[in-house]
Amino acid sequence: MLNLVLFGPPGAGKGTQAAKLLEKYQLVHLSTGDILRSELAAQTELGLEAKKFMEKGELVSDAVVIGMIEGKIDSNTGAKGFIFDGFPRTTAQAKALDKMLEKKNSPITCMLALEVEKEELIKRLLLRGKDSGRADDQDQSIIENRIKVYNSETTPVKDYYEAQDKYQGIRGMGSIEDIFGRLCEAIDNL
Ligand code: AMP
Repeated sequence: MLNLVLFGPPGAGKGTQAAKLLEKYQLVHLSTGDILRSELAAQTELGLEAKKFMEKGELVSDAVVIGMIEGKIDSNTGAKGFIFDGFPRTTAQAKALDKMLEKKNSPITCMLALEVEKEELIKRLLLRGKDSGRADDQDQSIIENRIKVYNSETTPVKDYYEAQDKYQGIRGMGSIEDIFGRLCEAIDNL
């Protein structure tokens, strides 16, 4: 199996690149942000609880997102592999993911981390907010908080994969096609 963690700050292009990668490599895309937004749209209890955190740009609890991902891994038994997008966002989530994959005997192959400058992230997110209507992409203070939370709570996840010799930084600036090319090159060299 090819199990990839697509990593990077909000606005790095994870969702855009995941859509292209899953088509090329026939993988299942698991985005905790997308799953939470669909729970919210369906007004489930989980979605409504998560909303309180999402609208402030804070992280939803580890227990909630770990449970969600476990359910999705278990329900995709025939998958050739997974692209994890927006997950894991804490070291506790990364450890839980390793345990889940251990049971399936198919560990994380690699973390591909998109590197983008902060000014570019804010520009991209505000632009996306205009098109998608995502509330957390329309307010600069929420965007700044998401980047702050990423720097404090999520960047340690890099060290976690680095310690397993699975971390690869990928330049995330430039055109969508250029960035996709860099990701494919890294995957093909695995
Ligand atoms: P995203 O679409 O990945 O930017 O996620 C949107 C929001 O969903 C985040 O700002 C968090 O509030 C929440 N969220 C998504 N993934 C996670 C995660 N792995 N852990 C905690 N909260 C998450």
